[in-house]
Amino acid sequence: MSKTNYHMTADEFRKAGREVVDWIADYYEWVESHPVVPSVAPGDIRASLPEHPPQSGEPFASLMTDVDKLIMPGITHWQSPNFFAYFPSNTSFPSILGEMMAAGMGVQGMVWKTSPACTELETHVLDWMVELLGLPDRFLSQGEGGGVIQDTASSAVLCALLAARERATEGQSNQQGIQDRKLVAYTSNQAHSSVQKAARIAGIGDESIRLIGVNADFSMDVDALRDAIQTDRENGLRPFFISATVGTTSSMAMDSLTEIASVLDESIWLHVDAAMAGSATVCPEHRSIHNGLEQADSYCFNPHKWLFTNFDCNCFYVADRSALLGALAILPEYLRTAEHDAGAIDYRDWQIPLGRRFRALKLWFVLRHYGAEGLQAHIRQHLELAAMFEQYVMESDHFELIIPRSLNTVCFAHREGNDWTEAILEQVNRSGKMYVSHTKLNDRYTIRMVVGQRTTEERHVRGAWELLEEAAMRLKEKNDA
Ligand SMILES: *Cc1c(COP(=O)(O)O)cnc(C)c1O
Repeated sequence: MSKTNYHMTADEFRKAGREVVDWIADYYEWVESHPVVPSVAPGDIRASLPEHPPQSGEPFASLMTDVDKLIMPGITHWQSPNFFAYFPSNTSFPSILGEMMAAGMGVQGMVWKTSPACTELETHVLDWMVELLGLPDRFLSQGEGGGVIQDTASSAVLCALLAARERATEGQSNQQGIQDRKLVAYTSNQAHSSVQKAARIAGIGDESIRLIGVNADFSMDVDALRDAIQTDRENGLRPFFISATVGTTSSMAMDSLTEIASVLDESIWLHVDAAMAGSATVCPEHRSIHNGLEQADSYCFNPHKWLFTNFDCNCFYVADRSALLGALAILPEYLRTAEHDAGAIDYRDWQIPLGRRFRALKLWFVLRHYGAEGLQAHIRQHLELAAMFEQYVMESDHFELIIPRSLNTVCFAHREGNDWTEAILEQVNRSGKMYVSHTKLNDRYTIRMVVGQRTTEERHVRGAWELLEEAAMRLKEKNDA
């Protein structure tokens, strides 16, 4: 008799599921002692995989074996306590469990009707976030505004730009496109590349986005912004969008929102990208980075960076949701519901894709597990460790700060210049014992030390510093010889 049911049974799932949970828990014990960056060359992982897909299904045990054998050798361990590169993308057990349950429910939350709790929990948790971060009330869902979970900050800025475009064209850009509209957008030359990408996608184009220069602390030079806007207006162009950054990717520089707000008028939309730094404002003592935010039309930050919530989870807020809906809502008959007509939130109208995952569940789990005080305590620990590291740099004979520390990011370099700094970065990363990445600030090759992994403790930060000092010492001996 031929087999007719190939599905995993519930009992098999129970058993395999427990093994997977154990595997994940073991991973966090094991990861600390493993090289943060794998030593594989492009093509190595593929070459180890079978050429053809399996004809017959395989037992789950062989999948688990192959994850360990074929996949783990090619994993960069973002969750290692010794990962200090790029930005953290931290997670936590409550978040992982929320993610599992969301996968288990397998709901699509595109409209209220397709899963009411998916929509309502999201609205509720995003309102909680306003309170937790001390964000302006205009972002609360009870008023004209509201929040939504996007996959990434990149999607958030694209949605903001589309809403701004539609508002600037009095609701005509969707109908007529934006040919000859002469729209111009502004951001600093330190802003994340996603702003430029959004401008391309929205048909604004690289030529119509001004990358404004920065001050010595890498914050946007608002006088230059004011001049650029004036010049563009004099040339018959239409400034319509500014994206300010609270915590730039290179150096965690903070644009001054109050200064930027002073050049705004009704015709310009202000978006604020606080992808990483936003999480710090769970601590009241860091809220000043948001001064002026009450003038912004939209705002976003990523709990998937520094708030113990696994990727993907971006909280995006608008002060006037009708602008966003005006840009993105299209109602085909097959998605019409009585609840929509009665005013229920259909989040598909707040984002680019139709389908949407139940992301609010993991965020809710994180907030309930840690509470405000738990989140504050861990953010403060990271900031103390970053301050400790900054102190090491200041007292070092080899290294110097390129700029003063901003939150959890320390930008430093070897005193002897770029070649030395680069050689040291490569050496410590090759050791496998830590991972840092670099940027260029005023042509200085700069190492960025970013503290934000859930499991990072003082000994890891101290260990990283010792490796850096050793590498510097060895390089000096080599050059002296
Ligand atoms: C990380 C980062 C982004 C991009 O984040 P995604 O969520 O991956 O799109 C954008 N802006 C800033 C300031 C960032 O730090």
